[in-house]
Amino acid sequence: MQDKIWLSPPHMGGNEMTYVQEAYDTNWVAPLGKNVSEFEKSIAKYLDLNQASALIAGTASIHLALILLGVKAGDEVIAQSFTFSATVNPILYLGATPILIDSEEDTWNMSPLALRRAIDDRISKGKKPKAIIPVHLYGMPAKMNEIKKIADFYSIPIVEDAAEALGSKLNDKKMGTWGKLGVLSFNGNKIITTSGGGALISDDETLIERSRFLASQSRDDAPHYQHSEIGYNYRMSNIVAGIGRGQMEVIDERVEQRRKVNTWYKALLSEQEGITFHNEPTKNYYSNYWLTSIIVNPKETGGVTNSDIILALEKENIESRPLWKPMHLQPIFSKYPFYSTGVSKMLFEKGLCFPSGSNMSENDMQRIKTTLKQILKF
Ligand SMILES: *Cc1c(COP(=O)(O)O)cnc(C)c1O
Repeated sequence: MQDKIWLSPPHMGGNEMTYVQEAYDTNWVAPLGKNVSEFEKSIAKYLDLNQASALIAGTASIHLALILLGVKAGDEVIAQSFTFSATVNPILYLGATPILIDSEEDTWNMSPLALRRAIDDRISKGKKPKAIIPVHLYGMPAKMNEIKKIADFYSIPIVEDAAEALGSKLNDKKMGTWGKLGVLSFNGNKIITTSGGGALISDDETLIERSRFLASQSRDDAPHYQHSEIGYNYRMSNIVAGIGRGQMEVIDERVEQRRKVNTWYKALLSEQEGITFHNEPTKNYYSNYWLTSIIVNPKETGGVTNSDIILALEKENIESRPLWKPMHLQPIFSKYPFYSTGVSKMLFEKGLCFPSGSNMSENDMQRIKTTLKQILKF
């Protein structure tokens, strides 16, 4: 059996160990420290913000974002249904109710039409939602111009789940910086990784300051340990942040490499009927193409389905996977209000993500090409 080709493996830049070693050498094997502050600075600089708060995970960052916006038990929070469960789970941590919004066809992300319908309906039922969480899936920016207009009209803050979209842009403005708060993830399979980690970003520095306070056990300014609020242990470790410092040095390169992989797949399958790529809808969109994704129409491929392709790749030890199963179809979330367009169900049934690592070799590409040619016969 040949080596496994992973969906999205880590890709170190080279300097990560230097920073991790520095932490060892100074015996700063602890939460916080120089690596954390330097990592935060590099994130802020990259996104053109003054501050960022490095945390243990993207999920923890969403949790804190909702706390910062005052979400409490019984509140309603709007979220994109077509996403990874980590977008929605923090709503339930707080005892609030997720209101799930379907996708539109251009970006596969939150439908502005369904969003407006949902807000009007929730308000007519007596509750104005406390926050809106759009997601930029697989790196593709959601229709933030429209979503922001609606959010501003109703004065509802946006928490942008940019966990998959570091380096993506809409109208030249980086994703993560469109909402009141933005969330990044550095989990093992994201475009850059710290093994596990996340960040909370905002141009509102008091929110970031407060996130640091909450994330380090909400310790009051006193000589003894005093607490007036519930605290969390969510700050990033100095070892993990060392990896992050090295990774931020190569983020632009990683975006370019992922986009090259995307271009390669598009060229490879350009003559193939029945395959639709997850594409930037206009020139204003710039995706990091974290994962190259497609929809397969078996009526046009001669009967070949997305599952057939996934299984054929798996037989060759090549990892691909179905698109996210929408939250409204998940056993744990299906009881919550859902505003449908029909799009995310279709995407789940027909789509798949190709292996898209920035460190994919020529040999890997050759293996993928051979396997796809066999199953699709292009
Ligand atoms: C990865 C991911 C998260 C969660 O990030 P973690 O760092 O793994 O907690 C949240 N939302 C989306 C869309 C993700 O892909």
